[in-house]
Amino acid sequence: MLKLYFFLLGTILASFAGLAAVRLGNGQRPWSPGRSYCDHCRRQLAPWQLIPVCGYLIQGGRCHYCHARLSIFYPLSELLTGGAALALCQSLSLDSAGILLVLTTLVFLASTDHFYQFIYPVALAGLFPLGLLFTPPGPKVSWPAALLFSLLLSFTVLHSLGWGDLEFLTVLLLTLGWYPTALVLLAACLLALVVNFASGRPRHGPAPFIPELALATGVLLVFMPPI
Ligand SMILES: [Zn+2]
Repeated sequence: MLKLYFFLLGTILASFAGLAAVRLGNGQRPWSPGRSYCDHCRRQLAPWQLIPVCGYLIQGGRCHYCHARLSIFYPLSELLTGGAALALCQSLSLDSAGILLVLTTLVFLASTDHFYQFIYPVALAGLFPLGLLFTPPGPKVSWPAALLFSLLLSFTVLHSLGWGDLEFLTVLLLTLGWYPTALVLLAACLLALVVNFASGRPRHGPAPFIPELALATGVLLVFMPPI
């Protein structure tokens, strides 16, 4: 029963994080207007349309009123966050609250980058509990961290990586160390290749990379032992 509670809480928090990201990017407040509306026809959505994951599935991935295609990003992030919360949260504790904060932050960062190609650096603060919650795997030496940071900084200066991506990866370096950060980077690059291949469109110019980084981080956390 507790697992189901954490799954539902994860989906609700992801839904709120996605909504807050889109509203802030539009210059609105996260809590105003009170009820969400369709981005295409501007009709106010009924409560059943707002149920995480289910609202999307019941509508068949299209707006109930204007039949415009809805973004798969929302139900996917809600489902993945619910699954991660279910796997990681063990009890009603401060640790579980910290894990939910980290997961919600990952969705918020991924959403702003996915929809607007930027992140709010202040939101990265939500990732700092990582260092208190998990035991990072890998060798306990620090010099590869400096090497990895130098490489990432070079890529950023050469415009192969965004500044937001560098900030995200630097927070991972500070909280989890170089080994998990290198794993996240590798997995995110593979994911980006798969997404590119599946979409059938070659990418030109800057493309959002935080969604891949956030997903790879979330997957890694599921396999990382708690402190
Ligand atoms: Zn509509």
